[in-house]
Amino acid sequence: MDFSLTEEHRMVQKMVRDFAQKEIAPVIKEYDRKQEPVPFALKRMGELGILGICFPVRYGGQGMDYISLGLACEELEAVDTTLRVVMSVHVGLCAMTLFQWGTEEQKQKYLIPLAKGEKIGCGAFTEPGAGSDVANLQTSAKRDGDYYILNGEKMWISLATLADYAIVTARTNPEAERPSRRHSTFLVDLHSEGVTRGDIHGKLGVRAGSTGWINFQDVRVPVENRIGEEGEGFKITMTAFDHGRYTVASGATGIIRAALEASVRYAKERETFGKPIAEHQLIQQKIARMVQDYEIARLLYLQVGWMLNQGMRTTRETSIAKKFATEASFNAAHEAIQIHGAYGFSDEYDVERYLRNARGAIIYEGSSEIQTIIQAGYALGFRKDKPVRCELPAYDAEAWQA
Ligand SMILES: Cc1cc2nc3c(=O)[nH]c(=O)nc-3n(C[C@H](O)[C@H](O)[C@H](O)COP(=O)(O)OP(=O)(O)OC[C@H]3O[C@@H](n4cnc5c(N)ncnc54)[C@H](O)[C@@H]3O)c2cc1C
Repeated sequence: MDFSLTEEHRMVQKMVRDFAQKEIAPVIKEYDRKQEPVPFALKRMGELGILGICFPVRYGGQGMDYISLGLACEELEAVDTTLRVVMSVHVGLCAMTLFQWGTEEQKQKYLIPLAKGEKIGCGAFTEPGAGSDVANLQTSAKRDGDYYILNGEKMWISLATLADYAIVTARTNPEAERPSRRHSTFLVDLHSEGVTRGDIHGKLGVRAGSTGWINFQDVRVPVENRIGEEGEGFKITMTAFDHGRYTVASGATGIIRAALEASVRYAKERETFGKPIAEHQLIQQKIARMVQDYEIARLLYLQVGWMLNQGMRTTRETSIAKKFATEASFNAAHEAIQIHGAYGFSDEYDVERYLRNARGAIIYEGSSEIQTIIQAGYALGFRKDKPVRCELPAYDAEAWQA
């Protein structure tokens, strides 16, 4: 594996860093306090090509590789988690799922506007009664001629009120013997009749993000909007989570870096007992841990990015990267607050926002408990990757940039 960054990787890093630091950082506190998304964020991410970073130019993307996607997520979340959440759901759950499983017609119709940022996508899996247990999702899609009739409610959906399209997994074959064969996945136009949606308020973190619910009442979804075959919904959802988790892992690495940089800055300024706190070994211990965690988290996500570029399955490696980085980012934010003392407890500094934002990622896109089960399953031989009918395409610079 070669983890040295190319010239193009560095350009992506710089472009995304400039956007996040110059355009979002100055206003994020205000929107986090108001609990409202930064109004221009999505539009700017689209204009800059960030929303289509890892898709071929012929599908409206930038023709960059999967490592570039990880680097972009790290830069975005180093400023605010809500920016990376956009990548997780618009790119990871929605557009990458279409790229992997969609027909050529579906890619032409939906992937191109998504990659260009002209339309916004999300992934609607979780329901009020089922999150981790995907095989137990209850939303139903009943075939009626050339349509499926969708009924049910999705909950905790990022970008619920801002998205144009949702990848939705629903029950089509309730009688199938194996629970994992009962569902199918659809691309649903959220402007369709029968769709209602709203935001959830009072969240601990990602307050400048949109998280909400979507209700489907007799929504008519054309058969041609089914992604994959009937009964493939569980598998498709699992691959969507692989892509989303990669963005969560790389993004959480950005929080570790931000917590580290804030801690180093403050530790050099703040004095106690006649010297900067940076000179106290107990403070150095916290900083050294953040340094280690940053390096480990970064290598773990680069490994996944590299494997994706080769066209390899990464469920195991993505799970490790996601669990490690999200837990380490919460710990880094927690220690950064400690280093800031009482000031860390106020939103005068960013570290309290890092802590609130880091917490959710230990739950969503597969909680730490679910990642533990996945990892133990591989180690014990209970779990093995089986080939899926459609694999995520490997990166091909020449073809993607043409
Ligand atoms: C900010 C935020 C954004 C989100 N965005 C999206 C989104 O865009 N799309 C989407 O579909 N969902 C989204 N979610 C939902 C998220 O994916 C779910 O919350 C998550 O999958 C967990 O499901 P649950 O909350 O229903 O918890 P449950 O599944 O009810 O689990 C409750 C607890 O039990 C544990 N648990 C469950 N099963 C086991 C087991 N077998 N062994 C041990 N412990 C277990 C869990 O780890 C958890 O700690 C989001 C959530 C949040 C907080």
